Amino acid sequence: MEPVLTIVVPCYNEEEVLPETFSQLDQLLSQLMEEQLVSKKSKLLFVDDGSKDRTWDMIYKEGLKNEHIRGLKLARNVGHQNALLAGLFAAKEISDCVVSIDADLQDDIEVIREFILKYNQGSEIVYGVRKRRDTDTFFKRSTAQGFYKLMKTMGVNLVYNHADFRLMSKRAVQELEGFKEVNLFLRGIVPLIGFQSDVVYYNRKERQAGETKYPLKKMLAFAFDGITSFSVSPIRFVLIIGLVSFFFSMLFGVYFLLLKFLGHTQTGWTSLITSIWLIGGLQLIAIGLIGEYVGKIYKETKHRPKFIIDIDTLNLPISRRHLLRNTEEEAFYQIDRKKLSETN
Ligand code: UDP
Ligand code: MG
Repeated sequence: MEPVLTIVVPCYNEEEVLPETFSQLDQLLSQLMEEQLVSKKSKLLFVDDGSKDRTWDMIYKEGLKNEHIRGLKLARNVGHQNALLAGLFAAKEISDCVVSIDADLQDDIEVIREFILKYNQGSEIVYGVRKRRDTDTFFKRSTAQGFYKLMKTMGVNLVYNHADFRLMSKRAVQELEGFKEVNLFLRGIVPLIGFQSDVVYYNRKERQAGETKYPLKKMLAFAFDGITSFSVSPIRFVLIIGLVSFFFSMLFGVYFLLLKFLGHTQTGWTSLITSIWLIGGLQLIAIGLIGEYVGKIYKETKHRPKFIIDIDTLNLPISRRHLLRNTEEEAFYQIDRKKLSETN
């Protein structure tokens, strides 16, 4: 039996690129079905992460036209990682394997075929890894590379140059559910699951339309989150600085005492004032950093849900479907009615 595949696509304000994404992914899925690589029950799952534009409308309408398209509407914007997770969990219920990919088609969708082949050979997780980053701006490329290096020195095991383009088996996604943390950094967690895994290399393209949803601020927050969710080395680093400066201040103390006994009392002022500032600064950094971790613990202990699903087109009660209708578009009603009478 061919495996049932679901391709999960998180979308946040992606109205510009969605028509292209629908058509390219749908075409790919049909090809895979024809080649008998995946089951005819396979689906594309578009997760609307609380978009403010027409993203959900478009997903819903496309779902009425095309039975392979399923839509999941989150109750509000929860960020890429959580949206992806919502999609993975919803998808695993009806699939044998799940592929996650960004809506902007920067990742080469043809690689999904290789993912499936590796899955059929027994891999539970297949990572898509970028060969080159020519299409990224110099800035994005260097910050991203710096990030991977930093994570590595802090002892976090990441797959180099792998973003969230990967295949996971149903079993792997089930295990992922066991990671209860609220501060979610998927790229760090997935390798922790283990199982047989493999890598497929591809060239990353430019965004097909629309603009990045990861501006610098979000990117920095993402990197910082990744580090503090996986490593305590920043705290340890502060501790070491504290110890080193304590050691030096002891040395200086001896030195200043010596000076005092030798009668050069005024010379101490500069070093005194500098060290007050230095130590004060270090203490503030240390407290701030510890605060970050305490904040994380605070969030974890609350166990808040990571996402809330508003609508899943797969199990939407028919009685509620009228809520989704867009009064402006008559054609849309007609498709909806036709579909309703078919399903009833
Ligand atoms: N995304 C999301 N929620 C957010 C931000 C982004 O679901 O709050 C989605 C977005 O629609 C896209 C993917 O995450 O499918 C990656 O975003 P983007 O392509 O803008 O990031 P970049 O490739 O520039 O790092
Ligand atoms: Mg992108």
